[in-house]
Amino acid sequence: MNKILAKDKVIYAFEPTLEPVITVDQCEVLTIETMDCFADQITPENSDMDGFDWTRVNPATGPVYIRGVKPGDIVRIDILQIQIAGRALMATIPGAGALSKHIVDAERTFLDIVNNHAVLKTGRGELSIPVNPMVGVIGVAPANASIPTGTPDAHGGNMDCRLVTEGSSVYFTAGVEGGLFACGDLHAVMGDGEVLICGAEVAGEVTVRAKVVDSPGLPTPLVENGGLFAVLASAETVDAACELANDMMMEFLTGTVGLEVNDAGRLMTLVGNLRICQVVDPLMTVRFEIPRWVLSDLGFDHIGGQDYICS
Ligand code: CA
Ligand code: ZN
Repeated sequence: MNKILAKDKVIYAFEPTLEPVITVDQCEVLTIETMDCFADQITPENSDMDGFDWTRVNPATGPVYIRGVKPGDIVRIDILQIQIAGRALMATIPGAGALSKHIVDAERTFLDIVNNHAVLKTGRGELSIPVNPMVGVIGVAPANASIPTGTPDAHGGNMDCRLVTEGSSVYFTAGVEGGLFACGDLHAVMGDGEVLICGAEVAGEVTVRAKVVDSPGLPTPLVENGGLFAVLASAETVDAACELANDMMMEFLTGTVGLEVNDAGRLMTLVGNLRICQVVDPLMTVRFEIPRWVLSDLGFDHIGGQDYICS
């Protein structure tokens, strides 16, 4: 049985002065329980949001102190498993989200999770949607800032990237000793954009392990998911986030992989994909994906030094 961190230990901002609630060694497996983004306050029995505490939104469980992590280190978080609860929640919030001009009725909708499908009731009947459990909020403490857990930025946070799934790894640059890692805001399923302002919000458990990786200058946050690497860029506008994502992928391909600038540019335009993660949080998040096979064929297989794998 590995270590377990209960979901009553949460933060609402990533900041350097946080007091760690648990310490792990590198490669030590830790299961982190997480509340949904409404801090489990909305249930079918209590769905009218009376007494809803808006200061308790986007809780991230942690912070976790990772032994041996120093400021500036690249830390890889392996997401070994994601388990989600049997019921997810969606909220329409008039005036909020990318569909705000269309949404006038505030509704809470519960979706049962049955056989790895989320069951959505619509006016035309029930729909079973295959789940793709993902972690919405994941990050480390920045060096000199306090960033609410609802905001994405260079430290991670509320990036709402649907590539952050079971089997993926996410790379961060530590701002402080121990990293002070936290995560929460699982979605049973969500599409790129998160246009309504939420996914299928769900409580659950995330099993992770952390490792310092020798890859100085790696642009972060960066996610490795099966067949691809993607850099994650957050900025005030989608345009600015796209420019940052382009810059980060160029930096990855020239700095980390070792390609020349024009070769990197040709690869980025031929086989790279610039995609939106979300457009509804305080900063917009965009990712630039590059397929793994392209880099493998050029002799680049992994990020970091020889002892990068946890055995
Ligand atoms: Ca989120
Ligand atoms: Zn969420």
